[in-house]
Amino acid sequence: MSTDDQRTVRDFLARDEEEQQAFLDQTWCDNCQVADLGMHTPIEYLLDGTVFVEGTCKKCGGQVFTELTDDDL
Ligand SMILES: [Zn+2]
Repeated sequence: MSTDDQRTVRDFLARDEEEQQAFLDQTWCDNCQVADLGMHTPIEYLLDGTVFVEGTCKKCGGQVFTELTDDDL
């Protein structure tokens, strides 16, 4: 394992259902270069003071990240 992996896993399912759905729908896939393809199997974690929701692209199966701003915390 790399030493810079300082993730703190958070409970994505603690969010409102509506909020969860928004994260699952509103995505950007670097691999597809297309927005809002959707993701599945989300996890949420804190890394270097930033919260990320990471899931799997519904289209290509690649990793999709959503970075949360402070407003979303
Ligand atoms: Zn994709």
